[in-house]
Amino acid sequence: MARLNPAARIVVTGCYATRRPAEVSALPSVAQVVVNDAKPRLVPLIVGGAGDDDPCGTPLEPGLAGRTAFTLRVQTGCDERCSYCIIPATRGRARSVPLDEVLREVERVAEAGFKEIVLTGVHLGSWGRDAEPRRQLVDLLRALDGRGVLFRLSSLEPMDCPPALVRLVAESTSFAPHFHLPLQHASDAVLARMRRPYTAAQYAALAAEVRAKMPSAAIGADVIVGFPGETDAEFDELIGYLDRSPLTHLHVFPYSDRPGTAASALPGRVPGAVVRERASRTREAGRRLNLAFRDAQLGAIRRALTVDDGAAVVTDNYLKLRVPSGRRRNQWVPVRIVSHTDGEPLGG
Ligand code: SF4
Repeated sequence: MARLNPAARIVVTGCYATRRPAEVSALPSVAQVVVNDAKPRLVPLIVGGAGDDDPCGTPLEPGLAGRTAFTLRVQTGCDERCSYCIIPATRGRARSVPLDEVLREVERVAEAGFKEIVLTGVHLGSWGRDAEPRRQLVDLLRALDGRGVLFRLSSLEPMDCPPALVRLVAESTSFAPHFHLPLQHASDAVLARMRRPYTAAQYAALAAEVRAKMPSAAIGADVIVGFPGETDAEFDELIGYLDRSPLTHLHVFPYSDRPGTAASALPGRVPGAVVRERASRTREAGRRLNLAFRDAQLGAIRRALTVDDGAAVVTDNYLKLRVPSGRRRNQWVPVRIVSHTDGEPLGG
C-alpha cells in the first residue's frame, strides 16, 4: 500500500497493531496505530473531534460507507483457547454489551431508518456469560424479537448454537435464515489439536438440524487447511464431509502461523505447496456447495433489502441479486430468483 500510494497516510488497527504497536508504527507511511480497545472511536481519532457520545463518530444514516445493514457489536473478547488463534491475547476476556444498552442502540438505529442489523462480536455466542445474572445469546435474541428490523447473526461458534436458538431463528421472522458456523476442520484429530471444543459429528448434527428446520437457510463456514500435522487422510475427511454437507458457502484459510500461539509450537509443518493445493481443492468444494445452493433457490421468492444503487438486493438467506433498477436503497422487496451463472450475480 505504501509503495503504490507514496502520499498515503496509513492508519493501522486490529490484532497485529494491538500486539506489536511499535513494530507497526515503524512500517512505511504509518501515520497512526489504533489499538483494538480504541477502535470504537476510530473515526474521531483519525479526523479529530469528540464523538464520544456517538459510538461510530459518524452520523447515523443507512448507506453510510456503502453499508445498508447496520453492524452492531454486542460483545468483544474471547475466553476460548483455540490453539491457532491470537485473539484472546489481543482482545482480552469476553465482555458483553449489557442488554438494556443493546436495546437502546437497536432503537436508535431503527429510528435512523436502518431495516437490517447484523449482530457481531469477537465471540458472539458467549454474549451474556459475564452478565449478572448470567444470560445466554438466545435471551438477547428473544428480547430483540419483534422490533420491526431484521437481525442477522454473524459468525456463531458451533458449541454456542443450542436447539432453542435454532428454533427461534427458524420460527421468528425477526431473524434472517442465515448461519455462519465456523467448522475449521472435519477431522476429530485436527479439531483436538486446534482445541476446538466439539467433534466433527456434533458439527454435522448441528448443520443438519439447521437445514432440517430451515430448508432455504444460508449456512456458511470457515475452514483452515494445512494446520500443523494435517495428513492426507485428515484432509480427505474434511473434503468428504464438505461434499455431503448442507453448507452453502465457505471461507477457506490456508493455515497461517501466529507466533506465540500453541499451534505455532506444534510439529509437522505442512509444506507451502501442499497447503496451497489443499486450499484450492477446498475452495473448489466451496464453489460446488454454493452452486448447488443457488441452483436450489431458482424460482424461490424471498424477502430482500435493496442495496447499493437500488439495482441490487440481498435476500434474507444471504443471496445477492441484480434486479431491475428504479428503486431506492434500503427498501424491503419480494424478489423472485430467476437466473444465475457461475461466478455471476444472480438475477431477480
Ligand atoms: S477462534 Fe474464535 S473462539 Fe477460538 S479463540 Fe479465536 S476468537 Fe475465540
